[in-house]
Amino acid sequence: MTIINLSKITPFKSKINHPLNKQRIKVLQINLGKRCNLTCIHCHVEAGPKRTEELSPEICQKLIDVINRFHQIETVDLTGGAPEMNYGFRPLIEAARNMGKQVIVRSNLTIYFEPSFEDIPEYCAKHQVRIIASFPCYLEDNVDTQRGKGVYNDSIKALRILNKIGYGNDSNLRLDLVYNPPIPRDNNFILIPSQNRLEKEYKKKLKNDFNIIFNSLFTIINMPVGRTKKYLQNKYLYFSYLEFLKSNYNELTLSHLMCKNQLSIDYNGNIYDCDFNQTEDIFSTNENGEPLTIKKLLTLGNLDIIKTIKTAPYCYGCTAGSGSSCRGSLV
Ligand code: SF4
Ligand code: SF4
Repeated sequence: MTIINLSKITPFKSKINHPLNKQRIKVLQINLGKRCNLTCIHCHVEAGPKRTEELSPEICQKLIDVINRFHQIETVDLTGGAPEMNYGFRPLIEAARNMGKQVIVRSNLTIYFEPSFEDIPEYCAKHQVRIIASFPCYLEDNVDTQRGKGVYNDSIKALRILNKIGYGNDSNLRLDLVYNPPIPRDNNFILIPSQNRLEKEYKKKLKNDFNIIFNSLFTIINMPVGRTKKYLQNKYLYFSYLEFLKSNYNELTLSHLMCKNQLSIDYNGNIYDCDFNQTEDIFSTNENGEPLTIKKLLTLGNLDIIKTIKTAPYCYGCTAGSGSSCRGSLV
């Protein structure tokens, strides 16, 4: 086995050879907390049913103030954990929709079958929430291996419910699915397949087998952070996976990176460039190097304080091959 030292992996900053500049903020991606009904092996936030961290009413109100005040925000993107299970889910949706913003909810689908969450599909439809749902493969074994036994069948049931109320069909009710490749088990790493080709395969399979329709498929790479990082470290694959990602670096992805125009906010109101930096505690800072919070941005009356994006070795995940982001491939 080849052991690669992290110090031998070219720092991402040196590889791109210039600072990665922030653009005008258009997206607020809010991580509502770590509570989730599932414990998927690839989960970068290490969410699960026993986690208790979630948004407080005070920070939720600050976020609503930001949504109301800054017209430049086009999209409010809710993630978690299972965002539906964490405090702030409904107040944030309603505030954002009242202001005419697009709202995205990143759903694991199976949450609809947990007690007291059965009304979520109807609620999301009423508020014209865009649902981006995890469905890492159209094959049952692959889904249940990554996410837990029975998840595939529950996901199919959930997609049928969504279709029945108009998701995937009505232009105001977008339903997108997310593909994650299987987590690497040895050094034979592969890049994510072509998003367009895979979307066609998903559409055919789900239509033929279950009469399910959806709008778009997003292919998202396994980022070596959180539970995936621990898994790779346990298998002595962490450094070689990073090296693999680096060797597939594609400069064309840089101008499309999701961190360029978004703020990622945690349940404490701290600000990051993306959910991965959030997982790794790499805070966004002002020009003096001071960490930013939602309270500070409100006091300053300005969302565009961050000049340079903070990078890390896992940025090679976003820039490998056709690239990867919360909205799929980049080029
Ligand atoms: S990957 Fe998503 S559904 Fe799975 S444990 Fe993490 S937050 Fe929950
Ligand atoms: S991990 Fe990806 S999204 Fe996050 S800062 Fe790096 S390149 Fe940007």
